Amino acid sequence: MSAPNKDFDPVQVTPLDAEQVEGAVADALAAVAAAGDLEELAAASRAHGGDRSPLALANREIGALPPSAKADAGRRMGQARRRVADAVAERRAVLEAERDAAVLVTEALDLTQATSRRPRGARHPLGLLVERVEDFFTGLGWSVLEGPEVEAEWFNFDALNFGPDHPARQMQDTFFVDPPEDGLVLRTHTSPVQARALLDHGAPLYVAVPGRVFRTDELDATHTPVFTQVEGLAVDEHLTMAHLRGVLDALAVAMLGEGTVTRLRPAFFPFTEPSAELDVRCPVCAGTGVVAPDGGAAARAQGAATAAEEAASTRADDPAGEGAPCRTCGGTGWIEWGGCGMVNPHVLRAAGVDPERFSGFAFGMGIERTLMFRNGVQDMRDMVEGDARFSRRFGVEV
Ligand SMILES: [Zn+2]
Repeated sequence: MSAPNKDFDPVQVTPLDAEQVEGAVADALAAVAAAGDLEELAAASRAHGGDRSPLALANREIGALPPSAKADAGRRMGQARRRVADAVAERRAVLEAERDAAVLVTEALDLTQATSRRPRGARHPLGLLVERVEDFFTGLGWSVLEGPEVEAEWFNFDALNFGPDHPARQMQDTFFVDPPEDGLVLRTHTSPVQARALLDHGAPLYVAVPGRVFRTDELDATHTPVFTQVEGLAVDEHLTMAHLRGVLDALAVAMLGEGTVTRLRPAFFPFTEPSAELDVRCPVCAGTGVVAPDGGAAARAQGAATAAEEAASTRADDPAGEGAPCRTCGGTGWIEWGGCGMVNPHVLRAAGVDPERFSGFAFGMGIERTLMFRNGVQDMRDMVEGDARFSRRFGVEV
């Protein structure tokens, strides 16, 4: 800045010279016009309109002018700087529009293009449910075992105390493998693994055995010739029916949710004595045997994940309990879940375990059946047809 012009001499201030100012403006306008993109424009704007630009420096000299000249110089400098600022704004608008147009071209998506992704389907809910059972027993410290699907008749029947005339040995229930003299069957239950496990490992023993089993049933809404069972076997000293009941109650809660109620009914199986049927209170009608006529459908539409959630919604809709008989339990309020009992001493003896010292309990239940009442699957054929749309409904967890 020049020295203050205290005596108001008309000192010529070079930077404010009209030609100089005009030249600076022309330089600025040329630089702005030459800016090819927003970065270059920002640089030009800093160089020609910023605090250290020729015009800004000239502007500071106004203070040194005599009062009579200040107004005129101020007006001229203001006009000059405004022209530069207007040019920058105008150029910026143009460059921004160009940039936006370029983005639309370079980032355009062809929505008609074929995708390279293929639908992956989903894990089958039966497999997920079996894993859930395995997790439960692993958590109790039990082992998970498997056995052969083509099984010796001896393991499938004789070792389990099925007499030679037991009806299950008839051709209408069991797939026999040719030639008959080999004594091989497709196992009709997972129980033969009981004898195999005791022969292999001896007592004490705590095992869960999931696996596929085979019966000569026609495929329909409630039957399938191939289905999945989970067998449990505990053999130790001093085991009682109370231990069996405790394990089954915990399993029912793990599989069907808090508050699940179970009951045992006397039954007969060759390989357990005493034997019982295990029932669970119907999760759909909560044991009342009735549901609101369309309560279940409404809950399904709202995305109820399990039959229990559906039931909660149904009950809320129908507090008086008036409605149609529950289809899941046939109006009885209870669902047969599996068979169980104390291991028959004959079975222990056949597997080389001393029944005077050891006792045990065993149980088995069908996984398909569990999926039906747990998740409201109406038709067993859905589980075997392999349609990915069925599996996807369950996501990755059931
Ligand atoms: Zn019911």
